[in-house]
Amino acid sequence: MQEYIIYGVEILLIYLGLFVMYKFVRGSTADSTLRGVAVLFSVILISVYLVAGGFGLYRIEKLLEKVVDYFFIAVIVVFAPELRRGLTRIGQNPLFNRLLATKESVIPKIVQAVFRLSRGKTGALIAIERGVGLRNYVERGVELDANFSPELLDTIFYPGSALHDGAVIMRGSRLLAAGCLFPLTENPDVSKRLGTRHRAGLGLSEDTDALVIVVSEETGQVSVAQRGELQQDLSRDQLERLLREALGDHGAQSGRENLAVGQA
Ligand code: ATP
Ligand code: MG
Repeated sequence: MQEYIIYGVEILLIYLGLFVMYKFVRGSTADSTLRGVAVLFSVILISVYLVAGGFGLYRIEKLLEKVVDYFFIAVIVVFAPELRRGLTRIGQNPLFNRLLATKESVIPKIVQAVFRLSRGKTGALIAIERGVGLRNYVERGVELDANFSPELLDTIFYPGSALHDGAVIMRGSRLLAAGCLFPLTENPDVSKRLGTRHRAGLGLSEDTDALVIVVSEETGQVSVAQRGELQQDLSRDQLERLLREALGDHGAQSGRENLAVGQA
């Protein structure tokens, strides 16, 4: 009698497994196939237990056990597309993504994008958030919260685009907003030759710990404003180094550390 209770529990557990698998592939064309499999599997399973436990038909039991072995392989083959889709869905789950986040640095992408803008003499203003939140400025711009890509930056600052006026704000690899306005610096020592784009970059860097990249429309020069100071006409390497020093190697998140940045 006890034996049958154990069988019962085992069958329940197996069905629990099948149910989870059903949830996994649900909504696909596999639904009815899966039902067919469940019926077939039940018949085989019950046969195995009955033959084994009830009648002791040793050879038939062995044969059915073999069938069960191959049955699993057959299920994997038949449901390969659904299993793949299910696995993809697990991989896309934001929770797992966060746990397994590949810390691919966004810094080279930013450098690449900035110098592309520079070559085309496209004016741009890019603020990168660090310890001090830039939420206030984001809210007054046009919120995007998009994955950063050089192409997106190109598109935003393309002269004539609806968002090209003003600045973009980034946090890690997210582009939070475009068309943002920053306070202009009131520092009297700032060169008269610098216009409002550079003054806005400096202004934000006085009020927050953000790193602000400025691309000049007039000269194509790349500058960085930090803590109220502007470092002008940077090379690729210099920009990359400044970004790494300010954001950490990964640049995947903003941090308060490494505030000190040497003059270029
Ligand atoms: P450039 O070298 O590119 O000409 P600049 O420092 O001379 O830069 P302006 O020529 O005045 O500056 O650039 C004007 C542009 O700067 C505007 O079209 C706008 O996109 C941007 N800008 C001006 N004021 C602000 C501000 N307060 N916040 C953000 N962006 C601003
Ligand atoms: Mg100008």
